[in-house]
Amino acid sequence: MNSPITPRLPGIRFVHSPGPTHVPDEVMHAMQRPMTDLADPRVAALIAACEAGMKNLLNSPQSEIFFYASNGHGVWEAVCANLGSDKHSLLIAGSGHFSDQWAIQTEGLGLSVIRTPHTEGHQIDVDAIEAALRADTAHKIAAVMVVQTDTASGITSDLLEIRKAIDRTQHPAIYVVDVVASLAATPFDMDGLGVDVCLGSSQKGLMMPSGLGFVAVNAKAFDWSHQHAKPRFYWSWFERKSPVQSARFCGTPPLAHLAGLETSLRLLQQEGLPAVYARHQRLGGAVRAAVKAWSTQGALKLHCQDPHGFSNSVTAVEVAQGIDPEALRMVARERFQVAMAGGLGALSGRVFRIGHLGDMNEPMILGALAGIEAAMRVQKIPYGDQGMTAAIAYLVEHTP
Ligand SMILES: *Cc1c(COP(=O)(O)O)cnc(C)c1O
Repeated sequence: MNSPITPRLPGIRFVHSPGPTHVPDEVMHAMQRPMTDLADPRVAALIAACEAGMKNLLNSPQSEIFFYASNGHGVWEAVCANLGSDKHSLLIAGSGHFSDQWAIQTEGLGLSVIRTPHTEGHQIDVDAIEAALRADTAHKIAAVMVVQTDTASGITSDLLEIRKAIDRTQHPAIYVVDVVASLAATPFDMDGLGVDVCLGSSQKGLMMPSGLGFVAVNAKAFDWSHQHAKPRFYWSWFERKSPVQSARFCGTPPLAHLAGLETSLRLLQQEGLPAVYARHQRLGGAVRAAVKAWSTQGALKLHCQDPHGFSNSVTAVEVAQGIDPEALRMVARERFQVAMAGGLGALSGRVFRIGHLGDMNEPMILGALAGIEAAMRVQKIPYGDQGMTAAIAYLVEHTP
């Protein structure tokens, strides 16, 4: 059988999956720093810089930051291990494939999960969260857990509306947000939004290889966990809240990843967070402008039905029946050097997804869109021919 994997071609291969994302050279080089002994004061300084940088990025100076040598699923489990109790339930708001997976994993830990329903193409149903909290007069629900950007659908939900709904019910539930796909692309203000716990991982907006997860925890969530959560150890916030480095990491810290994070946080600060968010907004807008223009022939459409839900990180493009998005991805990747993502869960075989988060600029986006358009031509997918023109016009109009 012929391998579909083409040999190395010259030039840069474009990564437009919504994680892993392109890693800037500065971060790669930082991760190649030589190892040292753990008592070296440089290690303590590195950890302190990463914690301070994360608090700054999240806008939560008082929260505790816990780093884990794990991917996003690992920090999902970290949160569940620290908020799981046999006397309580966890409410996971339906947003798409990622909330489904989080719920399955939480149930797998033997915890009681309440799920709210989700409508394809739309944001999280805030009324359903409010109704579930109102019905819970005994306050069995320990936490409301939501995904800010569901990466499978490319839809971002409104965290402030959810906070207001929780407040209206006067329910004491802890507010937990998964910012894995949205952090450093979409504005997130942990304290301003009244979020008690948030979690993320390194390979998306933080512009790093996979392998480093974090959880930020405020005093309310920390105290609740200490009083009510089931026994746990490796993930335990209580064990890790310690000035002793080996306790803080439950063993050896992931030094290379921390060195990468220190650098990526510095790059974000140098650009300035408002500029980072505006850049992602602009690049996402250009992708959607192209997709809308391509869609005039009826073979494609934006999956997100609500403009308030458009994501700064990723755009899911629905294909008409009879079009194989996996074949399109293969041609785009192997012939035109543009790696996109496919559909997950209920959307598998129905969408392709264009990632536009992380270390990304205008020519990268235009190159990716042109490569995707070329792949559509090879695959004989009918598309409107004004896609590139629309993307360029959008960028010209919105460039500061
Ligand atoms: C990618 C992602 C995850 C899972 O992260 P992994 O590192 O793949 O385990 C969780 N939540 C969201 C929103 C994601 O985009």
